[in-house]
Amino acid sequence: MSILKTPIAKCVERLKGATKFRPAGLCYLCQQHCKAAVCEVCEQDCLFFNHQKVAGNLLNWPNIKQGLTPGPYQKMCALSYFQWPLDHLIRRFKYGHPLLAEPLAQWFLRYSAASSGQLPDCLLPVPISPWRFAKRQYHQTLLLADYLGKHLDIPVMPKWAHRRGWQRSQQSLGRRERLRNLKQAYELGSGNFPARVALIDDVVTTGATIATLSRLIHQVAPHTEIMVWALAVTPNKADQALLLPGRQILSNRQA
Ligand SMILES: [Zn+2]
Repeated sequence: MSILKTPIAKCVERLKGATKFRPAGLCYLCQQHCKAAVCEVCEQDCLFFNHQKVAGNLLNWPNIKQGLTPGPYQKMCALSYFQWPLDHLIRRFKYGHPLLAEPLAQWFLRYSAASSGQLPDCLLPVPISPWRFAKRQYHQTLLLADYLGKHLDIPVMPKWAHRRGWQRSQQSLGRRERLRNLKQAYELGSGNFPARVALIDDVVTTGATIATLSRLIHQVAPHTEIMVWALAVTPNKADQALLLPGRQILSNRQA
């Protein structure tokens, strides 16, 4: 008798298979031996946002705010611009390496200002389309939200909204096309929104997705404060003056 594999069993198989693509015991960036996914030297060489310059909110930096689609989100935290080496790690995370959720979420806790300010009451992972989930076999923003929620003791609402199935991918679209595409793309699920929520995203590009989702939330919960937690942002102009190496951020904190 043949055993039919459930979608979950297939997903677990795929997640196990993904570890094959990581060179065993080597850093994802420099390929030197280390136990972690990225070695300490590479991590501390990475450039992260200097959150002191923006008082913990990237929307206070004009070059970032002006590049984003306006929406009712009030605060944004991210690790850095979508540039080397973060772009490499995020692409790998999104395309076949779900285990990178853990080191990327650890970096977010260590280097972003998110956990230093007032924490949200719940985490809302940006939904993925069923088509994308079927292809990818995991929901990358939910993996991040789960890790962050566990470590900050904040509940995650995995089914707060869903994305309808067959809209075109956002990646190749300009700002106007993205907005048109997104207008009908998302639908709220069940559940009430608390006073303060954080949208969890991997990369904020034009901000069209977070603007659309924020408006949806405010349609039913107009007083909810919305913050955005993302791994990276892609502004019109990446101002390098806003960045510091990881080691400097850590030593400033200890001083
Ligand atoms: Zn390394």
